[in-house]
Amino acid sequence: MTFLNQKFQELVPYTPGEQVDEESFIKLNTNESPYPPAPSVQAAVAEASQTLNRYSDIAVEAVAKPLAEYLGVEQNQLFLGNGSDEVLSYLFQGFTEKGIAFPDVTYGFYQVYSGLYHVDATVVPLKEDFSLELTDYDALSGTVIFANPNAPTGIYLSQTEICAFIEKHPERLVIVDEAYIDFSGESMVSLINRYKNLLVVGTFSKSRQLAGARLGFGVGNAALIADMNRLRFSLNPYNINSLTQAAGGAVLQEQAYVNEKIQETIQVREWTKQELTALGFEQTDSQGNFLFARHPKMAGEALFQALRERKILVRWFNQPRTKEYLRITVGTQEQMEQLAAALRSILEEVKA
Ligand code: PMP
Repeated sequence: MTFLNQKFQELVPYTPGEQVDEESFIKLNTNESPYPPAPSVQAAVAEASQTLNRYSDIAVEAVAKPLAEYLGVEQNQLFLGNGSDEVLSYLFQGFTEKGIAFPDVTYGFYQVYSGLYHVDATVVPLKEDFSLELTDYDALSGTVIFANPNAPTGIYLSQTEICAFIEKHPERLVIVDEAYIDFSGESMVSLINRYKNLLVVGTFSKSRQLAGARLGFGVGNAALIADMNRLRFSLNPYNINSLTQAAGGAVLQEQAYVNEKIQETIQVREWTKQELTALGFEQTDSQGNFLFARHPKMAGEALFQALRERKILVRWFNQPRTKEYLRITVGTQEQMEQLAAALRSILEEVKA
């Protein structure tokens, strides 16, 4: 017997990466930043905790003002969400009347939200090498969403290709999920004034050290943002709690620290890429804060387990096209040296 509505009984929820005790594990499984937020961010949260008796600011001014400035947009072109997952949830719920299309290998929540909101979803296979060809979406109708760089492959699509698609389909909403853009190329945010059918999604979870605070954003033309806020004010106007607002505002005052950590992550990523290649791994040219690699001598699941036994946690997706691969978050240089040493010893055991 169940009290759950019939329409949800087939719902397949998202499987989050494990959250484990960091004392005993090297945690490389959920693409978080390995670095703590700057001390001023921690202080801002402590200060904001003194007024927790009050509801949070529904305008989220502490974040919206400096974020709009940083992105070079107007505040009314900015939507703030409880993680970019919440931003995405509003988009799937409210902007998909003619259906939505996304790649077969991408962020798992796209499929989950399609199920939750009963959206007509078309899953378009990536090319053999996991590259995204937007002309594959030309013959479809409705909304298109993709991550750039994509997850879990890390492959980056050029602005020129995205613009060509947006211009060809002015009647279709194009959502670009830029969760990992800071480790990669050009953001599409600068183009929102040119294209009314472009909505860019971003997050404070990856490059800004705030995964636990849950803060994400959408950027697009003011009418689109007003429509998103209509949904938000019909569900949960206080979606960003006051501690998170304080943390987000403070992070935006710490751009030098954020930039320094982004550069460090990129350097460690490129170092790890070379190590993996030297160990015989095949991988995509990831532009995210993670790597996507497989080894011709060992199955993805076996590698995942062997690393887990050595107290290193990475992500393994049990899907037909990705099951031989591991997605490895870029941690600190020291963590990645430990990863490389563990992989070396695992692979030597296979050889022996
Ligand atoms: N988009 C992509 C592509 C992601 O990988 C993630 C995080 N796993 C998200 C969105 C959601 O991130 P958050 O809700 O923490 O902002």
